[in-house]
Amino acid sequence: LDSKYQVILANQNGREYLKLCGEIDSNNILHKLGEKAIGELISNYGEKIAWKFTPKNCSDRNFEIVIQLLISEANNYRWLVIINDISNFGQNNLVIRKALEKEKELNHLKSSVVNTVSHEYRTPLTNIILAVQLIKKYYGKLDSTRQMRCLENIENSSKSMALFVANMLLVNQAESGRLKLHRTPLNLVLFIDGLVEDFKLVRDSHYNINYTYECSFFEVQLDSTLLRQIITNLLSNAIKYSPDGGEINLHLNCKNNIALFKIQDRGIGIREEDKQNIFERFQRGCNASTIRGTGLGLAIVKKCVQLHGGEIWFDSVPQNGTTFYVKLPC
Ligand code: ATP
Ligand code: MG
Repeated sequence: LDSKYQVILANQNGREYLKLCGEIDSNNILHKLGEKAIGELISNYGEKIAWKFTPKNCSDRNFEIVIQLLISEANNYRWLVIINDISNFGQNNLVIRKALEKEKELNHLKSSVVNTVSHEYRTPLTNIILAVQLIKKYYGKLDSTRQMRCLENIENSSKSMALFVANMLLVNQAESGRLKLHRTPLNLVLFIDGLVEDFKLVRDSHYNINYTYECSFFEVQLDSTLLRQIITNLLSNAIKYSPDGGEINLHLNCKNNIALFKIQDRGIGIREEDKQNIFERFQRGCNASTIRGTGLGLAIVKKCVQLHGGEIWFDSVPQNGTTFYVKLPC
């Protein structure tokens, strides 16, 4: 450009970009580049200026320009304008940003795994060690009630460690596509009744599980192992997150080849900010930190539902309760 901002020389690409994003009059004087007056750009010469611009005839692009003073003699200037199309660079940036986000996510997952594993192992292991030490110290002198309490402690702690490992393996299997669906014929109403009865046997009696159903058919083709995972995880959550006890309702509705389960509790509920990620592995609600859990149950449930080609969703009001719905084609 000369002192009047007239274009006196441009290479082929330069000419194309000027046509696209410059405002040039019949005397070849450049008034604007994109939104910016050339005078304003030149006043910042030597600096890199980047901006986003949507030329009329072409999609959204990003430019970066650098203006250099070439000649300055007695009010006679020559300016070199370098227009750099950095749209693809922007795209690469996006790829890099996504990769960084992914890495951040993986790091977060890694620390969640380490935290959960160490926590889930430390507590039961400490219990086992204490119980064994007690038996050793008072060998042959403990009365039978105390002896039994120590053994139960060891049994429960070992069971919780075994369950955790089994859940980790199950999630891993599901994520790598190795968990398969095996539909077999079963009487759904009786199957669920059996699960609820098993639950009542091992759980605290201050919870009341009401099982109701409304079915136009009973015989279904579902994977009983995966179905057991779905129902037991949802029931155990309903109980666990209702620390004050209360009613748990499980309703089954079967019609038009669809089984719809509704599991309702009146517990602590799930907060708004936790709802979006609650099915992700190791995700736990911020109101659940004082209640033991690993954050694997719902991830397993969701995988089992998906393998059946079904759907899962929930309604929840903090302090008021949660209802999970599972719809399975059968
Ligand atoms: P576990 O792996 O032992 O099941 P967990 O119960 O913490 O551990 P999930 O079952 O995956 O893990 O549940 C994830 C989180 O969702 C829980 O930590 C809890 O915050 C929330 N949540 C699940 N079900 C309920 C419920 N019925 N009421 C309130 N919060 C719930
Ligand atoms: Mg759970």
